[in-house]
Amino acid sequence: MSSELFRQGGPHNVRRTGSETYEFSISVPKDQDGRTARECPGGGCSPGFFKIKCGTGVKNQTEAFCPYCRASGKPSDFTTKEQVRYARQIVEAQAHEGVERMMKEALGLDSQGRRQLVGGLLNVSIEMKPSSKPHVWRPWETILKRDLVCPRCELDQSVYGLAVWCADCGGDIFSTHILGELNVIRAMLADVPRRRELLGERAAAKDVENALEDLVSVFEAVLKIDLQRFMRLHGVADSEIESKMRRIGSRMQSVSNAQAIVPDHCNGNQLFTDANVLQKLDAVFQKRHPITHNLGVIDRKYLERVRSGEAEGREVRVDQGEVEQAAEAVFLVLEDLHLRLFPDSVRAAVSSPANATP
Ligand SMILES: [Zn+2]
Ligand SMILES: [Zn+2]
Repeated sequence: MSSELFRQGGPHNVRRTGSETYEFSISVPKDQDGRTARECPGGGCSPGFFKIKCGTGVKNQTEAFCPYCRASGKPSDFTTKEQVRYARQIVEAQAHEGVERMMKEALGLDSQGRRQLVGGLLNVSIEMKPSSKPHVWRPWETILKRDLVCPRCELDQSVYGLAVWCADCGGDIFSTHILGELNVIRAMLADVPRRRELLGERAAAKDVENALEDLVSVFEAVLKIDLQRFMRLHGVADSEIESKMRRIGSRMQSVSNAQAIVPDHCNGNQLFTDANVLQKLDAVFQKRHPITHNLGVIDRKYLERVRSGEAEGREVRVDQGEVEQAAEAVFLVLEDLHLRLFPDSVRAAVSSPANATP
């Protein structure tokens, strides 16, 4: 057949590379910030999805890393399923056109896709009605991202959950990732005055409570990741780590419990040396119990207990400034512990969340 399935050249620079092979160059769409999506090649990695800004980070890169599980591979191994789908749809749309063109030629149809087969008394014609071309959807991606720059190789990257590694140099930049998580909370707190104006006192108070809840979650999640990695690094079997973590459960949501648990699992390493900082943090963390147990609805019995002194005048309201200060303390404690447990890890470029602008 003289005709080709794909026209060479065009926006995708199509080249025929063999009797039945073609090469397409399809550039992957970037988001509005100029970042390109990437996906961990290891199955079961969660969230497994991140973004990088091409041109930043390691030059002439031959090996890339997953920021969550540190799976490594060629940079092209990190193509997302969405990008593969997008490329496939572009090729399919062009193949659709090519097949149509070849059919018309083979059947000898005119430009309207018709051919008169028999003349005279009987008029028979064939007609080909092209079906509609498949639509090419652009990749979609989730919006909840944390942007950060690797302090070691300067790769500009975004992640969608708590990550440990840099996607380009594979360095342990857990501190920077923790800072990214805390900056999400700080951004939420910074928006409280506007929300108060817009939605009232109740909504603003709820925002502060949610921020505290998130802060406790980050504290617990980071400690869990550090403990498990430390134990694995020091030869503790996976099954034993699993049963130890099960026994810990959610107890590290409390600072005082974490103070006892950390040295037990990390060869005697203390959570933090300054007991004052931990004590203050513990007090703020404890405020979330009455708040969350009442699901944010003011419980009449609870109020009565406060009034009758039964709740021992315990301050249950938590304000924006308190949670902001607690976020700073959380970063101080977590970065310090991480650097002591893993001496190869890289300190965050901004050492205090107070100086970081999200
Ligand atoms: Zn991964
Ligand atoms: Zn890096």
